[in-house]
Amino acid sequence: DSAKIELNRAPTEVKQLAERFDEMLVRLQTAWEHQRQFVGDVSHELRTPLTIVSGYLQSIQRRGTNLSPPQREALAMATAEADRTIQLLQDLLTLARVDNGQMQFQLQTIDLDGFVAQIIDLTEQYNDSHPINYESPAVSVAVCVDENRLKQVILNLIDNAMKYSESGQTINLRVDQQGENAVLAVRDRGIGIPLSQQTRIFERFYRVDEARSSFATGGTGLGLSIVKTLVEGMGGTITVSSQLGEGTTFTVSFPIVSESVDRATQRQVAT
Ligand code: ADP
Repeated sequence: DSAKIELNRAPTEVKQLAERFDEMLVRLQTAWEHQRQFVGDVSHELRTPLTIVSGYLQSIQRRGTNLSPPQREALAMATAEADRTIQLLQDLLTLARVDNGQMQFQLQTIDLDGFVAQIIDLTEQYNDSHPINYESPAVSVAVCVDENRLKQVILNLIDNAMKYSESGQTINLRVDQQGENAVLAVRDRGIGIPLSQQTRIFERFYRVDEARSSFATGGTGLGLSIVKTLVEGMGGTITVSSQLGEGTTFTVSFPIVSESVDRATQRQVAT
């Protein structure tokens, strides 16, 4: 009899449990949303004062004529750390926007090949360590992207290629058409990424083995996760292929569009 009563009670208890589970899920979701909002707000609030600190440090470095070498060194380190933190806050802000569905893309039709050439010109202002070789396609390829976000993607991949290869090593960029897609490949002859880690590098905060940090200190492990989010947000894909000690290629691909480049369509898409 008591077993019968237990069985009869079971459905009510299961129902109650399910209700409690639902309640907890809603509370967890709310907490998670608050947490994301908090990260976004804090990043935003900290970025402004830190940018001011960095500005003052740079101006002291420039104008301080009677600084001793150790003082100069300390200033350089403080500036580098401030800048690294500003970049981290910027990355956190970008991810918070993505998570909250506030990321806006201003999509526009552009020639991918011409755009990449412009970005390479930009890097010449600060890159004197790695020669860049660019292979463009015989015929232009048009894609529908957000120029600012794509610029961020390409600069990030070039920066990584420079960070993870010896000075003097050439970085190759190639744009071509593969079937229905326009493809941009960024190839370096750097340290490479072990096969087991190649899928993980797109995760937030993931950095391959700290032993390699002598190559590139100060990364946050957020760069590639942002790159992937931006590429996919614009309807593209990104893949990596790499050989340890030989080098790495990141391949970004977008569907080719047939609209003419001048009749640019402005569209807003929220992720
Ligand atoms: P970060 O460079 O700040 O550490 P990323 O998200 O840009 O973060 O990259 C994640 C990890 O992937 C890096 O720590 C690095 O080990 C590896 N990685 C990225 N790009 C390359 C590259 N071109 N060559 C070798 N390793 C790379």
